[in-house]
Amino acid sequence: MKFDVIVIGGGPSGLMAAIAAGETGASVLLIDKGDKLGRKLAISGGGRCNVTNRLPVDEIIKHLPGNGKFLYSAFSIFNNEDIITFFENLGVMLKEEDHGRMFPTSNKAQSVIDALLQELNRLQVKVVKNNPVADVLYENGQVAGVLLKNGEEYSTKTVVIAVGGKSVPHTGSTGDGYTWAEKAGHTITELYPTEVPLTSTEPFIMNKTLQGLSLRDIELSVLNPKGKPIITHRMDMIFTHFGISGPAVLRCSQFVVKAMKKWKITEVTVSLDAVPDKTGEDLFQQIIKLIKSEPKKGIKNTLKGLLPERYLLFLLAQNEIDPSTQGAAIPHEKIRHFCKSCKQFQFNVNGTLPLEKAFVTGGGVSVKEIDPKTMQSKLMPGLFFCGEILDIHGYTGGYNITSALVTGRLAGTNAATIAMA
Ligand SMILES: Cc1cc2nc3c(=O)[nH]c(=O)nc-3n(C[C@H](O)[C@H](O)[C@H](O)COP(=O)(O)OP(=O)(O)OC[C@H]3O[C@@H](n4cnc5c(N)ncnc54)[C@H](O)[C@@H]3O)c2cc1C
Repeated sequence: MKFDVIVIGGGPSGLMAAIAAGETGASVLLIDKGDKLGRKLAISGGGRCNVTNRLPVDEIIKHLPGNGKFLYSAFSIFNNEDIITFFENLGVMLKEEDHGRMFPTSNKAQSVIDALLQELNRLQVKVVKNNPVADVLYENGQVAGVLLKNGEEYSTKTVVIAVGGKSVPHTGSTGDGYTWAEKAGHTITELYPTEVPLTSTEPFIMNKTLQGLSLRDIELSVLNPKGKPIITHRMDMIFTHFGISGPAVLRCSQFVVKAMKKWKITEVTVSLDAVPDKTGEDLFQQIIKLIKSEPKKGIKNTLKGLLPERYLLFLLAQNEIDPSTQGAAIPHEKIRHFCKSCKQFQFNVNGTLPLEKAFVTGGGVSVKEIDPKTMQSKLMPGLFFCGEILDIHGYTGGYNITSALVTGRLAGTNAATIAMA
């Protein structure tokens, strides 16, 4: 059987590519290996699907630290506001939450998936599920078709590879597309976990002293071997049984991976500022004032409310201050050290959870070999890429799905245009 466009992969990028191609009137086949489409989309945003982000385009690009700038041309054609309009036209109303994050008002990822599936149906896109693609076929230097694992072959002039990265493989993203890209002559930049929890063998982690403790609105910095911050993120974090996690940690994680690689080191120091709105000196003066007003009060009670109690007790212990000691009995030098811990509690991390456990795959098909206006391969006519298989990655917050939908839109439209020309 012959189609104008074959899209491999039914994640956000492939669904959008198939819809965009279908809108042009092209005959479109969407193939997925799983029994359901959009399996990763269904668990995204804690099951609520953070479908895009409402920040201005420049900010969105900044939140895509993995080659976000490559997307400037794509955003000039189809951007986050277009995504919002697209979903509203499909009957999925969206609402804005903190940091510009957009969610369906239903709070259900499934409503996003259902709308995309209905649109595929309306556009008469043929969908084949439960059928892994084994290979993409090239003949005479151009795309010729795809071969399924069951031996069936489909001919086509254009193929959109939208099979995602290698993270969370039970959703279907097992990295199958990289070999098809390499076969077409593409470079796959090194794959690594991003947006992933960090591991640590520090005694307080191994002893689970802080396990389960969440810290709100802190600043976490990744330090280079000279002790200077490479990156700082202000968000929430949590201590776990293996290390640290939460939004600030996920954002810092790729910088830890890169630092370990760059300096060939097995541990990276991170620095935690639990009171980012105060300088160390302000904090010291505040504490001294509190102690002066009630000199006989135990320091733990004097400092109540400054930090979550478990963290306060932990930092007092780190500074060898007995929590019941009267404030006035504590030397100023010790108070200064305590303030320093509040502002710069430094500890080592020794890596991340594996790629399979990461929210997003870093690395992928090199964007240097992709036309940024069409998502077509510069090496193999008729071959298009979109979504996480590309060497593009963003922070959590809707940026990865935005990138998948924007690149999917361009890939689908342009594949159809070329196929029907
Ligand atoms: C738990 C979790 C939560 C997340 N939350 C968010 C969020 O809220 N916001 C955000 O922006 N990003 C989020 N992300 C990241 C985001 O979900 C992904 O970046 C995005 O889904 C990538 O889209 P994609 O279309 O490129 O690939 P995928 O969504 O991975 O889809 C790839 C599809 O290709 C299919 N496939 C693979 N190989 C084959 C083959 N050989 N033959 C046929 N089909 C194949 C798979 O079955 C799958 O359906 C989250 C990720 C995870 C793991």
